[in-house]
Amino acid sequence: MRKPFVVGNWKMNTDSHTSIDLAKRIASESSEAAGHGVAVAVCPPFVYLQSLTKALSASGVAVGAQDLYYELEGAFTGEISPSMLKDVGCIYALCGHSERRHVIGETDELVNKKVTAALGGGLLPILCVGELLAERDASQTEQVVSRQIKSGLAGLSAEKVSAVTMAYEPVWAIGTGRTATPQQAQEVHSFVRKLLAEMYDDQLAEEIRILYGGSAKPGNAADLMSQDDVDGLLVGGASLSADDFLAIIRSAK
Ligand code: PEP
Repeated sequence: MRKPFVVGNWKMNTDSHTSIDLAKRIASESSEAAGHGVAVAVCPPFVYLQSLTKALSASGVAVGAQDLYYELEGAFTGEISPSMLKDVGCIYALCGHSERRHVIGETDELVNKKVTAALGGGLLPILCVGELLAERDASQTEQVVSRQIKSGLAGLSAEKVSAVTMAYEPVWAIGTGRTATPQQAQEVHSFVRKLLAEMYDDQLAEEIRILYGGSAKPGNAADLMSQDDVDGLLVGGASLSADDFLAIIRSAK
């Protein structure tokens, strides 16, 4: 049985006060949900990671980074290493989020270096993949997702990959208010699971968690998570409202 997992990606939002308020509110009320077997994590901006890991240390809510760099240390101005993230109490790291790929310009190869470095540094990567609207319209969804997964996980053993969480996030659904239907999400999640079975083995494919992301909100979360292969949600905009994020956590079964 895969434990449902709900992750909030705060992107470049909140400040030193609102980040703590939001985290504390989530922590105080999500323990009930976590007690029902739902794992919860939040990914705040880098500068608030340390205060949040402290504020959340006694809660069941884990903290993740929105990105990382693949080198261990050195002359990489502006970058943050896996060991720095580990040092401030991070458990997870998003790798290849669509905004990193399509706004900042990260390539599949760079994403692979980040996934590899995260694992090497003792972090649990959440590897994000997903197609553009034009790619979906051209029936290229499976081709794009397959390429992103094969390159994102290149060179990693099954044992390493078993520590990865996958996130299917169609680019056309992120921050647009346009959610994939539960059936569209299920189709791609099922494809991802079969692909992982081919690349590794049935057990890994059966155990790995595949999250859906893209305009998830309280009104659609339960339907999305009722799908066989949707193991939780990566939530952007709705994770900035404690009420909405908590409602999404409660709808995970
Ligand atoms: C995300 O940032 O990963 C995301 C899915 O954003 P939103 O929920 O706002 O679409």
